[in-house]
Amino acid sequence: MISFRLSATVRLIAVSSLFFYLFMTPVTTTAQHTRKPKRVAIPAKLDSALLIHDLAFLASDATEGRATGTPGNLLAQQYIAKRFDSLGLLKTEGTYLQSFTFGNTNGTNVVGIIKGTKYPDSYIVLSAHYDHLGNRNGKIYYGADDDASGTACVMALAKYFIQHPPLHSLVLATFDAEERGLQGSKYYVDHPFVPLDKVMINVNIDIISRNDSNQVYASGLFHYPYLKKYVEEIKKATPINLLMGHDDSTKSRHDDWTNQSDHFSFHRKKIPFIYFGVEDHPDYHKPSDTFDKINKQFYFQVCTMVKDMALLLDRQTKLQ
Ligand SMILES: [Zn+2]
Repeated sequence: MISFRLSATVRLIAVSSLFFYLFMTPVTTTAQHTRKPKRVAIPAKLDSALLIHDLAFLASDATEGRATGTPGNLLAQQYIAKRFDSLGLLKTEGTYLQSFTFGNTNGTNVVGIIKGTKYPDSYIVLSAHYDHLGNRNGKIYYGADDDASGTACVMALAKYFIQHPPLHSLVLATFDAEERGLQGSKYYVDHPFVPLDKVMINVNIDIISRNDSNQVYASGLFHYPYLKKYVEEIKKATPINLLMGHDDSTKSRHDDWTNQSDHFSFHRKKIPFIYFGVEDHPDYHKPSDTFDKINKQFYFQVCTMVKDMALLLDRQTKLQ
């Protein structure tokens, strides 16, 4: 197992170096006799190093499993807000933070916006949840896969779309208290930062950084079959085995993920969704869901696939 992980790391370094040579070198070199300013290179890919760095922080001892209402959760929340700020995402009424209360607990969503260049009043919501189960009886539930992976991916997508401005506006939403019954997203759809009837779709990512069979599911197509063609299109372009399913309660209630993560809050408001996630693994909701178990190459490829899906959806004037 150790040698496998080492080789995965080596592969990542090799792949990262290739990306560096392919995409980080300047697009043009300005000849000395021209007066044109030097063009700044814009990477065509997601920032893989940042993706892994963010995941490592969110799943570290410092954030203590990110349980809603704890200091570790606050640390994660501040980390995300700081990243949104440094990237220049737009705030709503001067803040990225949206506080809410359920029972005796306070939660906080972190939400930033990127304005669309062509359809600024139409929105795509890219979401993940940053909370997890926290410290229970002295054991940290790290939640590296669930859902530090989705949260770090949302931050990588934020960076990408700041560098490659979208046609539609994007809402980058990292929800709190998902593990307490989708509380953050429930609150958000009742108190949205942008009009809900202007939201084209929610793309939700939760648990995307490891799978022994190289598989990830796009779920929700049973409810919104017209979205299948977009998934089919993306399937051709990704090395990941992209499957569809886990959304039909008439087949098996147990197997239906429709109400299993924050996309359900959007679905209840009749907003179409696509949820990306892997099937459960033995470390799901256990202290052993740790950073070292992440398959970095797989994770990067899945997050890239989500980016490509967002790009494809962004190019549509209407989803039908
Ligand atoms: Zn989750």
